[in-house]
Amino acid sequence: MQYDLLLKGGDVIDPAQSLHARRDVAFAGGKVATVAESIPADTAGEVVDCSDLLIAPGMIDLHVHVYWGASHYGIWPDTHCVAKGVTTAVDAGSAGADTFPGFRKFIIDTSATRLFAHLNISAQGMLDPDIGELMDIRFARVDRALATIEENRDVILGVKVRLTRRSLVSEESGIRPLHLAREAADAAGLPIMVHPQDAWCDSLDDILAVMGKGDILTHCFHNMPCGIFDDRGRIRDSVHAAIERGVIFDVGHGAGSFSWQVVESALEQGIQPTTISSDLHIYNINGPVFDLATTATKFLHLGLSLNDTIAKVTAVPADVIHMPGQIGTLAPGAWGDAVVFRQETGEFPLVDSLGIHRTARQRLVPITTVRGGAVYHAPAHAPAHVHHHHHH
Ligand SMILES: [Zn+2]
Repeated sequence: MQYDLLLKGGDVIDPAQSLHARRDVAFAGGKVATVAESIPADTAGEVVDCSDLLIAPGMIDLHVHVYWGASHYGIWPDTHCVAKGVTTAVDAGSAGADTFPGFRKFIIDTSATRLFAHLNISAQGMLDPDIGELMDIRFARVDRALATIEENRDVILGVKVRLTRRSLVSEESGIRPLHLAREAADAAGLPIMVHPQDAWCDSLDDILAVMGKGDILTHCFHNMPCGIFDDRGRIRDSVHAAIERGVIFDVGHGAGSFSWQVVESALEQGIQPTTISSDLHIYNINGPVFDLATTATKFLHLGLSLNDTIAKVTAVPADVIHMPGQIGTLAPGAWGDAVVFRQETGEFPLVDSLGIHRTARQRLVPITTVRGGAVYHAPAHAPAHVHHHHHH
């Protein structure tokens, strides 16, 4: 057989190649082999009929929490990522220097989902549901973060810091963790990823002031202090300036960080997220987030084009993590990751982090994932969720 797998007769959308047309996609040796108008079915070992379906590159989620069994946020990655069309995901700080070796050995190295990570500047990562990781500034250890990065350069993409006062960061710690994350990231030559809401500072201006090209501001549409608007509801000048110099504005929907009102006002003022991510974790997999496809569906509902929406979960995040041409595209030679969606029309309830409903007229439902050139089949048994008494 010339090809291992053939996705036949789908509507292929691949923003990285400016392609949106009816195509067949063939995979061989774990990679995308050919994309053509018609590839004979008898050239492939397995053929999947994709008539009336949408074929996209495997999605990339820049913000998830998948340190199952250690971080209180942790979900089992394959159940919620690769099984839902996300072939590559980046864990956003669930592990710090002291907890990263277990994350690597037991999660990253064993998952069917291709995983990367931002290392938490707190050496413990995000362990305890009641005591925030920077309630004691002694947990922020630049030296240990750097040593862990050096040992895991292939999977650590940056340094994560969460800044929320009182619940995560003590008054004594203040805004120092941001600067310690910056110090570690600069020493390693990596970007920072910042969770900014309600930080110990006057406004988002103070946070963006230390962020440059390639740094990621996640939770960009939250409605708490340190948001993207000024007192009059206008996009802050510092936000326009940050976008201009290449700071990544990432959705990071989460349980508490996505407000219809904020995102609608931002879109009206011409601000779009750079990347669409879920912040998927144990406290939002049963709503309001559910999965990345549902988060993408929210942006379709908000008026983004299908091409732009798919780009922000494929080609753009691939660029952000410096892997264009390898992931986030169906160009021949790319790693063989794809998702087949059914585009459903009807009436679908969508909920933001404040419990406010909207009704979508269309949605994207991932029905088949291709990972490494083969159809992904979930194993019969995945670990059950760890139950915590405290819920966010
Ligand atoms: Zn998060």
